[in-house]
Amino acid sequence: MTITVKGPIVEMDGDEMTRIIWKMIKQKLLLPHLAMDLKYYDLGIKHRDETDDKVTIEAANAVKEHGVGVKCATITPNAGRVKEYGLKQAWKSPNGTIRSILDGTVFRKPIIVKNIPPAVRSWKKPISIGRHAYGDIYKSVEYKVPGPGKAELVFTPASGERVSLALHEFKGPGVIMGMHNTEKSIRSFAQACINYALGEKCELWFGAKDTISKTYHGFFKEVFDHEAGARKADFEKAGIKYRYMLIDDAVAQIMKAEGGMLWACMNYDGDVMSDMVASGFGSLGLMTSVLVSPEGKYVYEAAHGTVMRHYYEHLKGNPTSTNSVASIFAWTGAISRRGELDKTPEVVQFARRLESVVIATIEEGTMTKDLAAIAEPRTANYALTEEFLDQVASRL
Ligand code: NAP
Ligand code: MG
Repeated sequence: MTITVKGPIVEMDGDEMTRIIWKMIKQKLLLPHLAMDLKYYDLGIKHRDETDDKVTIEAANAVKEHGVGVKCATITPNAGRVKEYGLKQAWKSPNGTIRSILDGTVFRKPIIVKNIPPAVRSWKKPISIGRHAYGDIYKSVEYKVPGPGKAELVFTPASGERVSLALHEFKGPGVIMGMHNTEKSIRSFAQACINYALGEKCELWFGAKDTISKTYHGFFKEVFDHEAGARKADFEKAGIKYRYMLIDDAVAQIMKAEGGMLWACMNYDGDVMSDMVASGFGSLGLMTSVLVSPEGKYVYEAAHGTVMRHYYEHLKGNPTSTNSVASIFAWTGAISRRGELDKTPEVVQFARRLESVVIATIEEGTMTKDLAAIAEPRTANYALTEEFLDQVASRL
């Protein structure tokens, strides 16, 4: 029986090994069961080059229009890639372009499988991380102070009087840094986190250091508290809570918690903590990623790249064992979001069933090499890329 997915999904194809996996996922797992209205955009490096990267912008605008997208991993070209693929130029990161058009926040969430135990014993449910991706030290101005002198913080308003704050009276060499953020960016980050938590029906944690940084971190807290307060009724309806904690308390609580929350992080905290959480849960092949805009537009993808090394083996004709799980979950994320928007529970159910079949396949001992190495009990045999997908397809 074929299930009809009513609304459109914006499909963004990509590069290398993930492009190969992408095609297999569609052919083996999706198209035999679903009738989908796919708006296809080829973000493969060749087509981006041919269109002077306009296809990326068109795809992002299509997501704006239709609300749901699914994206395959893509090459962000550097000098080496420009030569390798004979490109006109080193085009910008597609993810960066899409993020700036949708003004979105990226959330990462691990997939939990019983026989891949997390490094932290108390973690039972996934911990999602929402990282603010603008400003702070990532857009700062730094200066190495050569010797004695006076450092000041100066603001010259478009109209009105100049403000100057004493920073430090240096008696010898040192360093200074000026950083900033904007209310608009912080507010849209808070809104995206709230939308994600409501969508996933998970608790929302936000941690900062407002006891020390009463103005800077205090402003983040103020904006978050205000935005969460404005959605109080929605939180109650979803049966979830918003918690503000000092960042050090949040870190301590995370290590003791069983998971299941969205942890909203300021830029630096998110950079550091997402790597800790990702490796704590096991493998890049089990990490999903979703871009959520303040207006509630979604782009789902795997957190990993195009798995270039495996692709080169594949081109040589050697068998590969590349994990397709995060790419499958990118599709199920988009399909179930579409089903929720269209109010078609059978579509949501299909996505959930595919997810549980994937998990059961791994739990029953069929997995790719990256997982076989960390599974408990260890498995001597691992499945090749296509074998794993065939196993999932036959169970589905
Ligand atoms: P990568 O594709 O994430 O792969 C790095 C390594 O991690 C692989 O060589 C492999 O290790 C392991 N790995 C990652 N995903 C795996 C999977 N699904 N199954 C099995 N192993 C997996 O990163 P990269 O090789 O540094 O980058 C390749 C290209 O991806 C670059 O051109 C980069 O621009 C792009 N990229 C795109 C995105 C995106 O579109 N969102 C994100 C990151 C990178 P072993 O080789 O040890 O098996
Ligand atoms: Mg990092």
